[in-house]
Amino acid sequence: MQRDLSELNPPARLLLGPGPSNVHPRVYRAMMAPVIGYLDPDFIRLLEDTQRPLRAVFRTENDLTFPVSGTGSAGMEAALYNVLEEGDTVIICINGFFGERMVDMAGRCGARVVRVEAEWGRIIEPEQVAAALRANPGAKAVCIVHAETSTGVLQPLADIARLAHEHGALVIVDTVTSLGGCEVPVDDLGLDVVYSATQKCLSAPPGMAPITFGPRAMDVIAQRRSPCRSWYVDVTMLRNYYGEARRYHHTPPMSMLYALREALRLVLEEGLEARIARHRRNAQALWAGLEALGLQLHVEEPYRAPPLTTVRVPEGVNEEQVRKALLFEHNIEIGAGLGPLQGQVWRIGLMGYSSQPGNVFALLQALAVELSRQGYRASPSAGVEAAARLLGPP
Ligand SMILES: *Cc1c(COP(=O)(O)O)cnc(C)c1O
Repeated sequence: MQRDLSELNPPARLLLGPGPSNVHPRVYRAMMAPVIGYLDPDFIRLLEDTQRPLRAVFRTENDLTFPVSGTGSAGMEAALYNVLEEGDTVIICINGFFGERMVDMAGRCGARVVRVEAEWGRIIEPEQVAAALRANPGAKAVCIVHAETSTGVLQPLADIARLAHEHGALVIVDTVTSLGGCEVPVDDLGLDVVYSATQKCLSAPPGMAPITFGPRAMDVIAQRRSPCRSWYVDVTMLRNYYGEARRYHHTPPMSMLYALREALRLVLEEGLEARIARHRRNAQALWAGLEALGLQLHVEEPYRAPPLTTVRVPEGVNEEQVRKALLFEHNIEIGAGLGPLQGQVWRIGLMGYSSQPGNVFALLQALAVELSRQGYRASPSAGVEAAARLLGPP
């Protein structure tokens, strides 16, 4: 039987999964502003007002810094499709789900992929990349994920970037889960193409993918033998709109831009450094709380990404039942494990507006309740108490 189309009324969830994160109320309000034309001087001003703080969060002076119209994967396509063409060799680091997605895209560009792999939950070691660069002279780029949302690993980038540049390769970095929650020092490390998304640590709805192209990347793109295989993300055309000329390419999603602008205003108000410190502080409290419940974190301390924590599902506990109970009885979303970590871990996000002490306490409390319903024995208040020792009382 067909249901009447009732008024839209999705539940207001606490989003503590791998993304999207909760959207700040000011960002929702900004999205209600009227749509205007893409060449309206007021819109152009608004676009500039978005591109400027975007350079600040990327810590870059790159001219070509703009939001791709599309989600994080569109940012990934923009990075890979512009740089890679038929016959190129590309080194891709794979220690999780999103490295594999890059491999898929690079193949569609006609590039030959050299895989550098690590176990899900471990970092890629610089020596592995060095060996791949030595074995594949002329490799055009090294691609790597900064914060692997499937594993919770925060990948150190400095040595790998230096090695790539010594071999004349570009560095392409996925910062979808790190931008706005971790340091992304684009110019300091000379990262050549770096993309992100709006719905993780920037806490706007999904729909845009901030990206920045450095001078070396633009030179490489200028020397392509064939046009970019994607019309939509071809930066040789997009730069005519997102650069000085402001000439039509496609209609940017205005309301999403309003959202991103307000989200970036929130980042600047808080201060990027303070925001990064907040992500770290709340994550450390979560880690302490989970360990106090007797749970084991999947990633070693120095390589944990504050925005995304993977915690191992204890013996005898039904992973899915706990996750569903958190969602339907506590109104809290967390994520399941992917690939080899399916059924092995839960993924807990503390991204952007979702990264708050109150949310850490709520999650630890709810998880303790659901674990005890599963027959798991741990002091129900131990998690909250351990977190409170780091954060102050709930
Ligand atoms: C979420 C995510 C993506 C994909 O972004 P979508 O917005 O889902 O297209 C890519 N890379 C990483 C590391 C992510 O976490």
